Amino acid sequence: MKYYDKLIFELSNEGSIGYSLPKDDFSDISVDLDSSLLRNDTLDLPQVSELTVLRHYTNLSHKNFGVETGFYPLGSCTMKYNPKINEYVASFRGFRRIHPLSDESLVQGSLQIYYEMEQMLSELTGLDAFTFSPFAGAHGELVGLMIMKQYHLLRNDTKRTKVIVPTSAHGTNPASAAVCGFDIIEVPSLDNGRVDVKALKEVLSDEVAGMMLTNPNTLGLFENEIEEISKLIHDAGGLMYYDGANLNALLGYAKIGNMGFDIMHINLHKTFSTPHGGGGPGSGPVGVKAFLKDYLPAPIVDKVNDKYVFKTPSHSIGRISGFYGNFLVVVKAYTYLLSLGKENIKNVAYYSVLNANYIKESLKDEYELPIDDVCMHEFVFDGLKDKSTGVKTLDVAKRLLDYGYHAPTIYFPLLFEQSIMIEPTEVENKETIDDFIKVMKQIAKEAIEDPELVKGAPHHTPIRRIDEVKAAKKPVLKFKDIGKYD
Ligand SMILES: *Cc1c(COP(=O)(O)O)cnc(C)c1O
Repeated sequence: MKYYDKLIFELSNEGSIGYSLPKDDFSDISVDLDSSLLRNDTLDLPQVSELTVLRHYTNLSHKNFGVETGFYPLGSCTMKYNPKINEYVASFRGFRRIHPLSDESLVQGSLQIYYEMEQMLSELTGLDAFTFSPFAGAHGELVGLMIMKQYHLLRNDTKRTKVIVPTSAHGTNPASAAVCGFDIIEVPSLDNGRVDVKALKEVLSDEVAGMMLTNPNTLGLFENEIEEISKLIHDAGGLMYYDGANLNALLGYAKIGNMGFDIMHINLHKTFSTPHGGGGPGSGPVGVKAFLKDYLPAPIVDKVNDKYVFKTPSHSIGRISGFYGNFLVVVKAYTYLLSLGKENIKNVAYYSVLNANYIKESLKDEYELPIDDVCMHEFVFDGLKDKSTGVKTLDVAKRLLDYGYHAPTIYFPLLFEQSIMIEPTEVENKETIDDFIKVMKQIAKEAIEDPELVKGAPHHTPIRRIDEVKAAKKPVLKFKDIGKYD
């Protein structure tokens, strides 16, 4: 085992110390504490020097894979590079240090950002008003559904307890609907990956509160029948909800509002800058058409006589987060939009769609393309074309790690047995994408010539293939538990 593969407990050396404190002047002071609050045995901490600690954590950080270390083709999640200027602006003291309870008059600039951000998002999406309170995409979904619920309730339309979700939807959609107290009706997809409109017609009734959909859908395909789908739902008295976590494909080309959607959320931490993953702060603003504006959570920012003010909408669903969401994430998205400018925003859509189609077309001789169609920002293969080798999608994903790539999303969507979902995003250049294609072709070749090599991957990572079921069922989270389940 290499020095830097050791756990911090294994580096521990009795008596090693990382600090020195002056003599304790208070050692003769005693405090009576309830015995239930006192520790019975000594604290089991590793004993290491400052340099050992530093090296340990620096080495650990080098084991991380991120979009700043390599290509990250993670479909349905838009893992893209976000320019550093966004971080820089978000670090301005005037943004970073404002107190959430500051008087409005002292934070006019920050309120202006919310206000202008709302205008920019409205312009891009064709919806009329936004709230920035939600902390994440799924949180936004819940808020959007609460608005949907409130809308029906205030019209005394209490029968509407069901939400329609296509089988290809992102998992958070049915989960959010369930959390909001709705029953879920699933509609299947056709062989071409689009919503089965005939099946949709059959589930419509006056019990339907609305439908959750994303377009392009989670297969990366544009729902060509979207106008008819929206009309069907509206005619049945329901509302249309749009999952706009990943908006890359449409920016500057198509507006969500024009497709008939009434409510949507956007993940600022996917499409609009802010790196995501690792549990960092997120922001899932929710947009609505004008007729739902009064239901937005409180507070919203308005402009009165050239002053920015907080307001509570008249039929607000209430507060859904402390204060006003993750402000600095909004600052990053604001910077991102301004630095791209109106002229360049279309390039996000252009290159994300071009890159995805380029990979798809380059690899479809080696990988099975179940729906051979123009894709948007992502697409799905159904494993290797040559099924006789026994090499599965999981093996391909693991082998990619050996070549220094992050694995794409696998086994999602559930529509195919061996799904590999690839989203290159717009930030990757042709050289990077060509290298990735070369490696994917190489893995396909290895699968035929030396299938065991691929099945045994990864070979070059610090930890080889783990037993995922065991890791989930019997996680070893403590040093003391190492070996417990062996
Ligand atoms: C990521 C994602 C979500 C959920 O967003 P979170 O911020 O992770 O809660 C919802 N829908 C789609 C399509 C997504 O890609």
